Amino acid sequence: MSETLANLSSESRQFPPPEALAAAANVKADAYEEAAADRLAFWATQADRLDWAKKWDQTLDWSNPPFAKWFVNGELNVAYNCVDRHVEAGRGDRVAIHWEGEPGDTRTITYAELLKLVSQAANTLTDLGVGAGDRVAIYLPMIPEAAVAMLACARVGATHSVVFGGFSVQALSTRIQDADAKLVITADGGYRRGKPSALKPTVDEAVAQCPSIENVLVVRRTGQDVAWNDKDKWWHETVEQAGTEHKAQPFDAEHPLFILYTSGTTGKPKGILHTTGGYLTQVSYTHNAVFDLKPESDVYWCTADIGWVTGHSYIVYGPLSNGATQVMYEGTPDTPGRDRFWQIVDKYKVSILYTAPTLIRTMMKWGDDIPAGYDLSSLRILGSVGEPINPEAWMWYRENIGRERCPVVDTWWQTETGGIMISPLPGVTATKPGSAMTPLPGITADVVDDQAQSVPNGGGGFLVLRDPWPSMLRTIWGDDQRFLDTYWSRFGAGAGSGDDWIYFAGDGSKKDEDGALWLLGRVDDVMLVSGHNISTTEVESALVSHPSVAEAAVVGATDPTTGQAIVAFVIPRGNVETEGDIGEQLNVDLRNHVAKTLGPIAKPRQIMLVPELPKTRSGKIMRRLLKDVAENRSLGDVTTLQDSAVMDLISAGMQTGKSED
Ligand code: ATP
Ligand code: MG
Repeated sequence: MSETLANLSSESRQFPPPEALAAAANVKADAYEEAAADRLAFWATQADRLDWAKKWDQTLDWSNPPFAKWFVNGELNVAYNCVDRHVEAGRGDRVAIHWEGEPGDTRTITYAELLKLVSQAANTLTDLGVGAGDRVAIYLPMIPEAAVAMLACARVGATHSVVFGGFSVQALSTRIQDADAKLVITADGGYRRGKPSALKPTVDEAVAQCPSIENVLVVRRTGQDVAWNDKDKWWHETVEQAGTEHKAQPFDAEHPLFILYTSGTTGKPKGILHTTGGYLTQVSYTHNAVFDLKPESDVYWCTADIGWVTGHSYIVYGPLSNGATQVMYEGTPDTPGRDRFWQIVDKYKVSILYTAPTLIRTMMKWGDDIPAGYDLSSLRILGSVGEPINPEAWMWYRENIGRERCPVVDTWWQTETGGIMISPLPGVTATKPGSAMTPLPGITADVVDDQAQSVPNGGGGFLVLRDPWPSMLRTIWGDDQRFLDTYWSRFGAGAGSGDDWIYFAGDGSKKDEDGALWLLGRVDDVMLVSGHNISTTEVESALVSHPSVAEAAVVGATDPTTGQAIVAFVIPRGNVETEGDIGEQLNVDLRNHVAKTLGPIAKPRQIMLVPELPKTRSGKIMRRLLKDVAENRSLGDVTTLQDSAVMDLISAGMQTGKSED
């Protein structure tokens, strides 16, 4: 039988946790044993981190798989857990949010102030007739009101659907319609790249197509002119005038908390539904464990946008449930200069930084001298999420940002999983550059072949989750069938084989000789070259390990002799010459470099030097569009693409691009 997914690269570097950090770590090695001995008891213990109005009587009800119920009949209020209880415990003066606007304006919000804001917003929602069982669309820039709006919805039992503030009328209106939302919360605009960027006109157009919307609440952020309609109400004339007392009612542990659409890297976004008790348990536990958060002394900063699941779980619900002090930044990393992130780290003495590989690679491209000009000594833990992190980028992050002092935690998870699933623990795990290492305590991840058999160490295949977990998605909003088809019908009971329900994540992975997990990208992207299944990630990482390369994306294009052939799109580093003969030589060198690193089977047929790559709004590379280009097809769904002009540039280059040597 042929192998499911080839294992081509190997990595021998390993970094044990710093001793002092390990000694004082929130979570130690015994957590794995405790969870393995009794997984449900382990999660019940973690649920005790929260304040429950009514204790659950069953940890997990899995009698109707794959529809899980966690903490059955328990009741809690999510906003109470994220805000009120810290104030009641005497920590009202602790800073919850250090907010930094892109133009340099700032706001400091303590937990006591956050409680006031959330209570006022909750009172306004009630006045507008929004309560349990309703949906609210949130379309805001990265301003504190975004977190306040989410928490206010949670507080009154309304389900929020946050739509990324850069999306089009079409994307916003289909999401409003799909969720049948009653209210939109938006702003006049936000600051992006040094200028006000309007949001309200998009909402005006979308709302005209959405009869379910009864009211539009508008935060004034930029002061730009806005059209004013019957349904519009200013935030400062409603919320900021509302009563500051609001008593939070508890809701059932399975009460819906939010709908969030996936990033759309692979196709049409799916409306993922999350509920309250299990979700908050897992995001609270993982935020505490993976980032080793010491709420009294740490300053945490997650650079994601609130419109993505990372913003939901690791800006709003995880950190706030843990009483963290965090930085929230409105704008782009290069405004006014390419050092903005490092300025912010030094200014607020950030100790835990959580960002994405796309940003790390961009910082690499901009040059080591930029972070070198900053102190950065407050940092103690670095995190990564969103895509596989190439070993080269991991090492750059460790050396240039962490100054070889900070553990790097590469965290694998998805919108669907709600919380982190596979990650090192910074006080326990000896990390390897580019590996997410092992499932967290209480999580059962595995790599299997197409018969759902575990692959041995050294083998590659499909990443699956064998047991339900507290923050798992409950369904795709309004489409149980798509939920079953997408995640549960590939392996196990849902595929008609055996009694076990096995969740298929859609990602490829391998186990190295020690059993550590290496994420290899989407299985849809795997290339079949002369009978070998080759992952995009391994070839991309080999390219990025060449000193002339900043970023790379590879796809398999139909080829008459090999079935598929590897086509690579490469962004050279800033100082690299690419014109004429020099460019052609670089092309040859890169192809040989890959062949030498991974073996001749992985040698790209063709390399395109490009100025940019197509990315989703959350910064992930969209390989399916590159495949369309490589195979001369018209482009598939581009609604979640960051910048459509990029595709024109790449297609133009493709026609003139040289192939073959
Ligand atoms: P869609 O499902 O609509 O195509 P998406 O999968 O990009 O969109 P998200 O839920 O935001 O939407 O992303 C989750 C995916 O991101 C994972 O399935 C995986 O492919 C990738 N990913 C996230 N973190 C990591 C990581 N640490 N290592 C490797 N891949 C990661
Ligand atoms: Mg996905």
